[in-house]
Amino acid sequence: MRTILIVLLILILGSWYLRRNESRPETNRPQQRTPLPPAEKMVRCAECGIYLPASEARSIAQTGTTGTPLYFCCDAHHNAFQKRHV
Ligand SMILES: [Zn+2]
Repeated sequence: MRTILIVLLILILGSWYLRRNESRPETNRPQQRTPLPPAEKMVRCAECGIYLPASEARSIAQTGTTGTPLYFCCDAHHNAFQKRHV
């Protein structure tokens, strides 16, 4: 009987402690989230079609008629594109 009373007391004190922590105002919480950096522009390789961040694109070429930049995931794809289109 004494064991049951001790377990009940522990459960009641535990739930009281958890509710007390949940109801604390936001200012007492240890850290605030830092904003995420802005998303980087993704570009498509003109040869294989894979998308990669613009900062990792290896080569950029200008098309002759439209002036739209072309991005390539590696030099090999840049060279293959140049061989087919020049
Ligand atoms: Zn590619």
